[in-house]
Amino acid sequence: MTVAAIVPAAGSGQRLGGGTPKAFRLLAGTTMLRRSAEVVAGCVDSVIVAVPARWHDAAIVDLADTGCPVTVVVGGSTRQESVLAALAVLPPSVEIVLVHDAARPLMPSAVGVAVVAAVRAGAPAVVPALSVADTLKTVNTSGRVTGTVDRAGLVAVQTPQGFSREVLMRAHRAASSTATDDAALVEALGIPVHTIPGDPAGFKITTPCDVVMAEALLGGRA
Ligand code: C5P
Repeated sequence: MTVAAIVPAAGSGQRLGGGTPKAFRLLAGTTMLRRSAEVVAGCVDSVIVAVPARWHDAAIVDLADTGCPVTVVVGGSTRQESVLAALAVLPPSVEIVLVHDAARPLMPSAVGVAVVAAVRAGAPAVVPALSVADTLKTVNTSGRVTGTVDRAGLVAVQTPQGFSREVLMRAHRAASSTATDDAALVEALGIPVHTIPGDPAGFKITTPCDVVMAEALLGGRA
């Protein structure tokens, strides 16, 4: 079965600051975009990345020689629109699609391999998940605690997420609101979403502190 990966990378990275879109920020000398594409390049036949319009040509240069054919498209104003823009150029032969955020550059490739294997084995949708370590509380608008959530039934979900092409396309076509991941759109159709073990190294880079942690991890890996 032919597999493609979509890498949404068109976010502005406002919470990170600095002006350059997040995916084009360097982590130990290599962009988050390239690192995230490399996470999935080994377990797919092609990669489609969605980037801000002004960064289209820079992305092509950045992604040369990733060991996998790469297509660059212009993303949209939300993550969901960026994924849709990439789905629009999916080669007809593709039967399995991974979606991997450019903001998770340190996810071990083994997780992508496991996601693909689970979809190949028949799961319509698969997400890497981690148990929640913090105690979770609900608060009101003035920040006062209104309750404590039982975390036993909660997981934190990462990417790459994997789908049968047909399911992912159907979910995006049927989407009636904006979701922060693709699995939510599949859930909305009542289609089962399966979990596999995620990896703490695949944390999402959002704040300057996350960059420091990622570079520390990369230093440890060298
Ligand atoms: O902002 P956040 O980190 O949650 O975004 C998750 C992923 O979606 C990032 O890789 C980001 O580049 C991507 N994104 C996108 N198009 C947008 C907004 C976010 O591709 N308009």
